[in-house]
Amino acid sequence: MDGSDAPAAAAKVSLLMLGQQAILDALLCLAHLTAGIVMEDVFNAFAVAAFFEFVVFAIFEMRYLLLVWKARRANSLDPWAAQRELSVLYARFYGVLLAGVFLGYQLHLWLKYLIFPMYAFWVPQIVYCARHDVRQPLRPAYVIGITLTRLALPLYLFGCPHNLLGWQPRPGVCLALCICMAVQVAVLMVQTRWGPRCFIPKRFLPAKYDYHRRAPARPLEAPDQARGPRDIETGDAGVECVICMNPLDVERTSARMVTPCNHFFHPDCLNRWMDVKMECPTCRQLLPPT
Ligand SMILES: [Zn+2]
Ligand SMILES: [Zn+2]
Repeated sequence: MDGSDAPAAAAKVSLLMLGQQAILDALLCLAHLTAGIVMEDVFNAFAVAAFFEFVVFAIFEMRYLLLVWKARRANSLDPWAAQRELSVLYARFYGVLLAGVFLGYQLHLWLKYLIFPMYAFWVPQIVYCARHDVRQPLRPAYVIGITLTRLALPLYLFGCPHNLLGWQPRPGVCLALCICMAVQVAVLMVQTRWGPRCFIPKRFLPAKYDYHRRAPARPLEAPDQARGPRDIETGDAGVECVICMNPLDVERTSARMVTPCNHFFHPDCLNRWMDVKMECPTCRQLLPPT
């Protein structure tokens, strides 16, 4: 269950989003098991479904949750604080799970409304990226795959006229659920393509460092910037990107990025670098978020 490109990108995944999905799968697992016990003739099929959900939630999702949590606190070295924090994380998870079982039992008649907050599981990720201004780390294939597999069961229960639980078909709920999921996926895709805050009007955003700002054509303030071979005609030294060692066109603002310390890089090179660490590859000065 790796929805992100690199281990470093795991730090950009919302814990709340993962927790909500893990709880949803745990609840589905319990629901399948209970339904299988109540309706004996379908026990085998439901038990198999419950088993797969258990594997997904207990192994993949909990492991991914732990991976993200570890990536988040990569800079902290105190093992006791880490252990305390981890037990709080587990306690919260199982607390919410128990509350979910209790509420699900008490409010099962309201399930057609409750399903919407339960299925708003991409919202924490959208909010996390917009709030912290970090690039969307989830791959589109992962987002679409998870959305479709999660939609299958509610669409069957609310849409199929002869479903196993004998529920009345509710096309309105199905349609609203599909729209709700489509909107969340669309916002995630927009964030991936145009940046995590592209849908927030500029005047509400704090001033941001511009990596494509105009900068002196010759980075005089940067004596340690790697220089390319000298031009034989003019004797000028070109500028090289120290990440890939290829020459750079400093004049074209879209073809290069410049750090606050006046070091130039290719946009692709620097963006990949910033997925790993937020410091200048040349002089190690801290970099502002993109
Ligand atoms: Zn480069
Ligand atoms: Zn620098």
